[in-house]
Amino acid sequence: MPKKPTDEKRCSFCGRPESQVRMLITGATGYICDSCAQKASEMVQEYIPAHKPHTITHIPTPAEIKAHLDQYVIGQEDAKRALSVAVYNHYKRLKHSADRAAEDVEIEKTNIIVVGETGTGKTLMARTIARILDVPFCIADATTLTEAGYVGDDVENVLVRLLQAANYDVEYAQRGIVFIDEIDKIARKGDNPSITRDVSGEGVQQAMLKLLEGAVVNVPPQGGRKHPEQPMIQVDTRNILFIAGGAFDGIERTIASRLKANIIGYNGTKTREEIDRHNMLKYILPMDLKHFGLIPELVGRFPMLTYLNPLDADALRRILTEPKNALVKQYEALFAMDGITLRFQPEALDVVVNTAVEYRLGARGLRSIMEGIMTDYMFDLPNMKKGSTLTITEEMAQTKISQSNINNTLKNQ
Ligand code: ADP
Repeated sequence: MPKKPTDEKRCSFCGRPESQVRMLITGATGYICDSCAQKASEMVQEYIPAHKPHTITHIPTPAEIKAHLDQYVIGQEDAKRALSVAVYNHYKRLKHSADRAAEDVEIEKTNIIVVGETGTGKTLMARTIARILDVPFCIADATTLTEAGYVGDDVENVLVRLLQAANYDVEYAQRGIVFIDEIDKIARKGDNPSITRDVSGEGVQQAMLKLLEGAVVNVPPQGGRKHPEQPMIQVDTRNILFIAGGAFDGIERTIASRLKANIIGYNGTKTREEIDRHNMLKYILPMDLKHFGLIPELVGRFPMLTYLNPLDADALRRILTEPKNALVKQYEALFAMDGITLRFQPEALDVVVNTAVEYRLGARGLRSIMEGIMTDYMFDLPNMKKGSTLTITEEMAQTKISQSNINNTLKNQ
């Protein structure tokens, strides 16, 4: 190539001459202009986040984790205990793998599956745990993985959010906790793989195996499909704890028929009378998950299995008033901001609970029912006399529910 006619100094990155840039910095073997320097700095910021010392100083005990959960989650004792232990062990593993001598025992991680009807607190529990952790945490939805299809490596997207939660600090992300919601939605449709081979569900499950057991995975930093030009971030999942949740609709029937067979069989351990028929999930075993359509390898990678109880009227009633951010407390706080004391007659709360039970809405319905009752009052709130008290009575609650279109809305939910 012929030599450029001018010997003006040029940026070694973009090639622009000194006269066309605002500033040209001289290096040992070349030059860089102000705009390339700026771009380079941005790239560095993006890929190497500020170094944070992520040493774990305090490991919360299972009792501490559970006490924290108790403030927000009503009931669900077994699940709370199981999760508290799983998270506690996760911390211990991290500490152990940081301290240990090479020949030391390796503690395997205890990924955990939580089975429970929708609206019984799976996500709430995961979120609540996240608040006390000093490891990054994210919630990923398994259904989005199915939509993306079984071709390609979309399962890695589960880790994108974790990376985001860790501010792209890979070391930090590698110690995080991922909650995979709706794991039941990637079940294959039949128990017999040779007859009903539902490739997409099974494909996603297969792809998920390597995340769960621990592997170095290429993650597209922005999520989505892999693009050849996109630089990948390598994440080692060995120390990432996975908590999966799912409703597993209809699994009660599987459990029931298994129990029935056991009772009849010679080795039956429970008599018919001992079985709590309203809560079959209590008796769930890994084999029921397999029967539902999770492949055995996947089930095997979740050594801990726990369940949530369905919410009865009593639990719903407690959910309305007891948690730290209970709905009733939230409305009271909203009214207090306008100088009004809000009270609910106990009978008014019964109306709310009974409506939720009647329409089988579970805890999620409580919010729409309360909104239906309170919207008009909140509309008038700024005009109410400061210092006054508003008491919601049974009649008021009933009238608002029948006046508003809650009935229709609820029926359609
Ligand atoms: P899931 O993930 O099981 O479908 P969520 O955790 O999203 O259900 O629960 C929906 C809402 O219902 C939560 O935001 C919470 O307000 C309420 N809720 C459900 N279960 C409980 C519970 N056991 N204790 C307190 N609130 C609950």
